[in-house]
Amino acid sequence: MEYNFILGIFGEGRVGKTCIVKRFLGEGFDEKEESSSDADKVEKTIDIGKDVVNLEIYDLPGQESFHSFATNYIKGLNGVILVYDIVTKYSFEKIDFWFKQMQENLDKNIPILLMANKCDLEEQRVITKEEGEKLAKEKNMMFYECSAKNGENVQCAIEELAKKLLKAQQQSTKKEPEKQEDKKQEIKKKKKCYLF
Ligand code: GDP
Ligand code: MG
Repeated sequence: MEYNFILGIFGEGRVGKTCIVKRFLGEGFDEKEESSSDADKVEKTIDIGKDVVNLEIYDLPGQESFHSFATNYIKGLNGVILVYDIVTKYSFEKIDFWFKQMQENLDKNIPILLMANKCDLEEQRVITKEEGEKLAKEKNMMFYECSAKNGENVQCAIEELAKKLLKAQQQSTKKEPEKQEDKKQEIKKKKKCYLF
């Protein structure tokens, strides 16, 4: 089967969102990458088992002034990626804000992946892995430390998110026929009641 999911990637400026997306697309890493200025949408198709999953990822630049325009766009998302980097304390503290934005605008069941980027900069680290894990656990997010620079965990983190979406989608489509079957059984039972 083929599935389509729309993802949004959010976080403080300069945490590496655009680099993560580029790495995921297989475009490598550009050290001199300037903070991007256009609204960007990228697409990538991945295979998960026998299924084909088309992912659209929205990477909105200038998200600090985001309130005014992004609400409607958030509402259309199937999954969310929140990013901080392990060398900037403020970017970690800002995750709460992004999480709230998602809670206000999205269904509670929508999966959120928390990515702690720049884990290649171990010697400059200010946020421990445990702090990231704790936050993710509290808010029921998936969690990966990653590096867009060396590629560590970028692919597999986003694939895990896609797998979660796929599973949820498959379960909800399975439930429908089951529900119908339940109804049939109910009618049968009622009929029996009448007969006896
Ligand atoms: P955005 O504003 O969140 O989209 O951030 P960018 O993707 O534009 O990246 C901001 C800066 O961080 C750029 O100078 C990147 O080269 C750098 N950067 C991004 N990811 C990494 C990473 O994993 N490791 C290191 N060392 N630098 C990174
Ligand atoms: Mg960017």
